[in-house]
Amino acid sequence: MIKLHDLQFVPFIAENEIIATIDRMSDRLNKDLSDKNPLFVGVLNGAFMFVSEILKRFDFDCEVSFIKLASYQGTETTHQVKELVGLDQDVSGRTVVVLEDIVDTGNTITVLSKLLRDLGCDEIRIATLFFKPEAYTKKVKIDYFGFEIPNKFIVGYGLDYNGLGRNLTDVYQLKSSDMTNLVLFGPPGAGKGTQAEVLKQKYDLVHISTGDVFRYNIKNATELGILAKSFIDKGQLVPDEVTINMLNAEVDKNPDAKGFIFDGFPRTTAQADSLQELLTSKGAEVSAMIALEVDDEVLVQRLLERGKTSGRPDDADEGVIRNRIKVYYDETAILKSYYLKQNKYFGVDGVGGIDDITKRLSQVIDDL
Ligand code: AMP
Repeated sequence: MIKLHDLQFVPFIAENEIIATIDRMSDRLNKDLSDKNPLFVGVLNGAFMFVSEILKRFDFDCEVSFIKLASYQGTETTHQVKELVGLDQDVSGRTVVVLEDIVDTGNTITVLSKLLRDLGCDEIRIATLFFKPEAYTKKVKIDYFGFEIPNKFIVGYGLDYNGLGRNLTDVYQLKSSDMTNLVLFGPPGAGKGTQAEVLKQKYDLVHISTGDVFRYNIKNATELGILAKSFIDKGQLVPDEVTINMLNAEVDKNPDAKGFIFDGFPRTTAQADSLQELLTSKGAEVSAMIALEVDDEVLVQRLLERGKTSGRPDDADEGVIRNRIKVYYDETAILKSYYLKQNKYFGVDGVGGIDDITKRLSQVIDDL
């Protein structure tokens, strides 16, 4: 076992296995590209070791270049612009082989493929040493991969954890934690907040309600609060980037937590992806999404009733309430299939007494 910064890692793939796999990949590259004079493009920083091994084994004319994908903020807070840096060759009409250390969600190779196509490449092939099929959400074809690995956080052989571990010649995976992380799901007014309060005591979990954190910031007129208010008042979602950064900061405030109840998060696929990434980096995962199912008209009545005492402006106006429910079905309900696919979705009847509903939820949690 090794320790990097605050985390422990255990051996996963030994160097000799990696070398045997690179030998096999190289045989195919030699066969496929002998007359193409390919340009190998290594994606920094993680791919440097892999690139060097591939190049040593390529027997025909070829060139090599290294690039980085830099991202910077556009003029709008939600707008991320990606730019390719370091490519000084003319790639028009050429066969380019992108060499990646790892393909995870596929965001990087998707952006990269588009940028290279725009520069006029004749053909783009993707070769990656590690590939995580469970995390991959994109359509770009992976032409060559070395290892298919589960969705675990790995270091070594070029890959790092916060800068450390790139020099390890074996690959290590994060020692998995036994955290319980629940996503409490359901439309506004389903009773997520009420149940979260009970469950956090019962299971000793940290409850994070993104709605509560936003309201706290609004009350204290922080920069985040001022930004979020305009969206919340209309019943719309706050932009992903703002919400994700806030959630990550809340999780980081509780390094010793036995687990979390996420209430009101994730609400979009991008948020779900980022939660997965955050928990994976801690050796943990979402244990379950538990959804409280309640009929729309019951929700509207509950929220109007709550609005009489909650002081929440978004509970006082039936139009805003209906918009929040609509936003839930338009933008958020797709997450059901996201977690169904991972066998992590559990629907629970959210109508009845508070204790009865707690019992139904506990049954799901106890069976995890
Ligand atoms: P809630 O208390 O969960 O009903 O959230 C109240 C409001 O806060 C929502 O209508 C959104 O405007 C905003 N909000 C809360 N959580 C999120 C999230 N995960 N993503 C975007 N907006 C959110």
